[in-house]
Amino acid sequence: MAQQVVIDEDECVGCEACVEACPEVFGFDGDTEKAHVLENADLDADCIEEAVASCPAECITME
Ligand code: SF4
Repeated sequence: MAQQVVIDEDECVGCEACVEACPEVFGFDGDTEKAHVLENADLDADCIEEAVASCPAECITME
């Protein structure tokens, strides 16, 4: 089932671990050096959990 994935960009440290773990869902803005959820993200992708686990700032949440 589709879910919401939210990044707290204030907490994001710009490591790109989420993008590496799950490029179907996460993108990276080189100007702001923050990750974001892609507009066409596959919110059913299994790799989301991997990205959440790999985030050192623990700023990705699933709702
Ligand atoms: S893994 Fe977390 S801290 Fe790293 S870029 Fe992604 S959201 Fe930001």
